[in-house]
Amino acid sequence: MTLTGNMLIGQHTVTGSREAIRAIDPATNLVLEPAYPGGTTEQVDQACALAWSAFDSYRETSLEARAHFLESIASEIEALGDELIDRAVAESGLPRARIQGERGRTCGQLRTFARTVRAGEWLDVRVDNTQPQRQPLPRADLRQRQVPLGPVAVFGASNFPLAFSVAGGDTASALAAGCPVIVKAHSAHPGTSELVGQALARAVKACDLPPGVFSLLYGSGREVGIALVCDPRIKAVGFTGSRSGGIALCQAAAARAEPIPVYAEMSSINPVFLFPCALQARAEALAQGFVASLNQGAGQFCTNPGLVIARQGADLDRFIATAAQQILRSPAQTMLTPGIFSAYRNGIEALAGNPKADTAAAGLAAEGPNQCQTHLFVTQARDFLTDPSLQAEVFGSASLVVTCADDEQVRQVAEHLEGQLTATLHLDDGDLDNARALLPTLERKAGRLLVNGWPTGVEVCDAMVHGGPFPATSDARSTSVGTAAILRFLRPVCYQDFPDNLLPTALQHGNPLHLRRLLDGQREA
Ligand code: NAP
Repeated sequence: MTLTGNMLIGQHTVTGSREAIRAIDPATNLVLEPAYPGGTTEQVDQACALAWSAFDSYRETSLEARAHFLESIASEIEALGDELIDRAVAESGLPRARIQGERGRTCGQLRTFARTVRAGEWLDVRVDNTQPQRQPLPRADLRQRQVPLGPVAVFGASNFPLAFSVAGGDTASALAAGCPVIVKAHSAHPGTSELVGQALARAVKACDLPPGVFSLLYGSGREVGIALVCDPRIKAVGFTGSRSGGIALCQAAAARAEPIPVYAEMSSINPVFLFPCALQARAEALAQGFVASLNQGAGQFCTNPGLVIARQGADLDRFIATAAQQILRSPAQTMLTPGIFSAYRNGIEALAGNPKADTAAAGLAAEGPNQCQTHLFVTQARDFLTDPSLQAEVFGSASLVVTCADDEQVRQVAEHLEGQLTATLHLDDGDLDNARALLPTLERKAGRLLVNGWPTGVEVCDAMVHGGPFPATSDARSTSVGTAAILRFLRPVCYQDFPDNLLPTALQHGNPLHLRRLLDGQREA
């Protein structure tokens, strides 16, 4: 397919007329064709009008039809073949194998949501049958189901050009819930976005769905993005990116005449706690695992281990020395965009210039543009507790070891942390009491707690939580990865004393969809 630089408003390809975006290959700094002119206010309005007109019919598609649609999107993406892989590699600087794996994850995610839609558990049907004889007053017949919120604006993420972009987790979960989606493509990978957008539009057509189920817009976040968030027909927002970007969208959404939820996944440094027995038994192995996780994807994961916390002593010194040796041999890696590289370099310079942080190691020097040189810093707990800049996310392969005088200082550091996506505990049997004492704090701080593993690598499954208190996300009650992500785009409606033939199918007395309902307080088998 020839890339056109066009947006998609439903089934129509349209050309924007605002300033054009051009992708840059971060490995060479070469500009990639074509140009992607930004959408106008009128085009945002058209996409929103079309999404709104599609909503009532799309939200009542059968479970089977919606599941089939999600599977069709996956098949259409696979049919793009190497063209998609080539373009995503060129636009992101990510290795080919990583992009291939990400395509597998994206398609697997869509199929997982298809399974979820078919099973229908997300409808969370609750039935309280009428009790006409109840004293002193009879009880009405009450039935509840979940309905979708309405059209959703999705902001593609720079660090997952497939799995968290046009047909990524936010889009898949919103479509699964029954919400039309308008994507504001990330400006770093417009060509990848166009290819996936075309695939998604083909699936809409093949499944005979209303065209407004999906649109794709390019342009600046401050113009196209804010116009989308402020449009009264948009009812929720999905975002992954910077803290400042996420906060700007939350503020715009809250200032609307009708405020709407923004599910923004922003900033996390993912603390790793090394407990004394584990550190004594395997400091070197822990250091090797840590550096492997730190270097993965040039550290451009929201779950990158950016903070290590442990009691000071010879075992922690062994950990730091081994990690430093590994880092000295770590090759520099191309980052996603010149902007992300520049933010990384600024973050490293700030830490290197901070008298409270010592540089433990720096990786091999860059051999090309936009390359991230892995860095490890060390600070003392008392400095970490008093200098907020030491807790700022440095997006890339950079981490800070916080050395604590005793267990009480470990607890103080944990208590001092901002909200996180993950918190990791490395422990042996002899550490269990220590770990147990820290858990209440960590449960308040993070969305996922892991033992004896590394936070990078997020499984797409039913039990996953990829969320956490601010600033990890803007709404700690949800997850953006895994099937529970569908809950973000639903709300409950109760139907009281409806005749059976006026009820939605899911709530009818004969339970034609064979759902496991909560019936008069008992979960059906
Ligand atoms: P970003 O700058 O937040 O951009 C993400 C999306 O939000 C883009 O579409 C952008 O539009 C839009 N946007 C940004 N600021 C906005 C604003 N004030 N108003 C409206 N829309 C806005 O994120 P990025 O480009 O992916 O990376 C920049 C930094 O974000 C990184 O250096 C890193 O610190 C952080 N980041 C964190 C994670 C994580 O998972 N924790 C992931 C990715 C990035 P434009 O097209 O105009 O840019």
